[in-house]
Amino acid sequence: MPPEPNACTDIGFVGARMSMRYCARCDNTRWVCENNLDRPFLGGRACGCGGAGAPCPACNNVDATDPDDVPAMPNGFKPDMS
Ligand SMILES: [Zn+2]
Ligand SMILES: [Zn+2]
Repeated sequence: MPPEPNACTDIGFVGARMSMRYCARCDNTRWVCENNLDRPFLGGRACGCGGAGAPCPACNNVDATDPDDVPAMPNGFKPDMS
């Protein structure tokens, strides 16, 4: 039985780019300032205007009509439920 030639070539490059996508709105924290939706709510460039945080409209969008579709929480963020 001969080996299959080049069976795995060209696989492996397809998904590599999407996982590295950088979001300039939220600095990849996935949360933006509620008052300034193009500024991150967390991280070194956080807005700091005192407004509340909001899910990034670019990369953390949720379906408002679906109660089970909740935005991803940033590291260290603890929803108040015990
Ligand atoms: Zn702000
Ligand atoms: Zn974002």
